[in-house]
Amino acid sequence: MNEKADGRESILRGIRVLDGGMASELEYQGANIDGPLWSAHVLEDAPEKVVAVHRAYIEAGADCIETASYQVSRIGYAEFGLAPERADAALLKAVELARAAAAEFPDRRVVVAASLGPYGAALHNGAEYHGNYDCSFAELVAFHRERIRVLAGASDYQSPDLLAFETLPSLEEARAIGEALAPWPEVTAWFSFTCRDAQHVAHGELLSDCAAVVARFPQTVAIGVNCTQPALIPALIAELRKATDNPVVVYPNSGEGWDATARHWTGSSDAEEFGAMAKEWFAAAAQIVGGCCRTRPAHIREVAAVVADCPSPSTNAKPA
Ligand SMILES: [Zn+2]
Repeated sequence: MNEKADGRESILRGIRVLDGGMASELEYQGANIDGPLWSAHVLEDAPEKVVAVHRAYIEAGADCIETASYQVSRIGYAEFGLAPERADAALLKAVELARAAAAEFPDRRVVVAASLGPYGAALHNGAEYHGNYDCSFAELVAFHRERIRVLAGASDYQSPDLLAFETLPSLEEARAIGEALAPWPEVTAWFSFTCRDAQHVAHGELLSDCAAVVARFPQTVAIGVNCTQPALIPALIAELRKATDNPVVVYPNSGEGWDATARHWTGSSDAEEFGAMAKEWFAAAAQIVGGCCRTRPAHIREVAAVVADCPSPSTNAKPA
């Protein structure tokens, strides 16, 4: 990792605006993201499109960007006959592309977070949204550890500033990641959960319980919620605040919902509405706000405008 352990707390200092969705934005860039291993194809065949998405988010005001590696894993690649080395290389390539985009903005400090999805994301069956995995705790630890090993050993331009463990559905998976991280106390990470209501993560545990557990890991620099309905965010920030004084990061979905029967998106993805909600989230003491599924640079521009309107925000906010 680029920062020493003693610099860990400073990595997110002053950082307020995270980027938005990667997959849908790649589609707008003309990338083919059909199929479960879309990031493998895009990282290898159209890296300039990944850079273009990063660039669009930095231009929109993001001061933290996430790599295009959410579902990159050895297990996921093996399922499609791809060698483990190819998954490892894709993780590093994703960081390299984010660094390349950030380097285009020499006057800005842009933090690069390695996006690491949960085990369910590697299964390609939506299991991350309930967290009922057919695997042992040891297998979960091994799954996460192999990716951590690759990124912790990366040098310079392939090394992320932090690991973003995200869309975590359960307390068990959070515990498994803590175990997986144990050999690398110097690594920096955030933990972000996907929630099914105003109090509970997707698998059913209390978000506050999950936050209390991950707050004890030496690697943790922020705790949050992503891939969740935006309407739930104020209540979920309050749940996090009950359990931890770690900086809070929230990056919910756009506000649209997938109607599985009618097979189309419903609800609003209005960027201005998203900005109005972001104002509430900052007011509720979220330090960093971004977007997950179906959010676009327009959403992030609105979030950045909220920050610009509040020039002296409470960074590393702690509960009053
Ligand atoms: Zn999402």
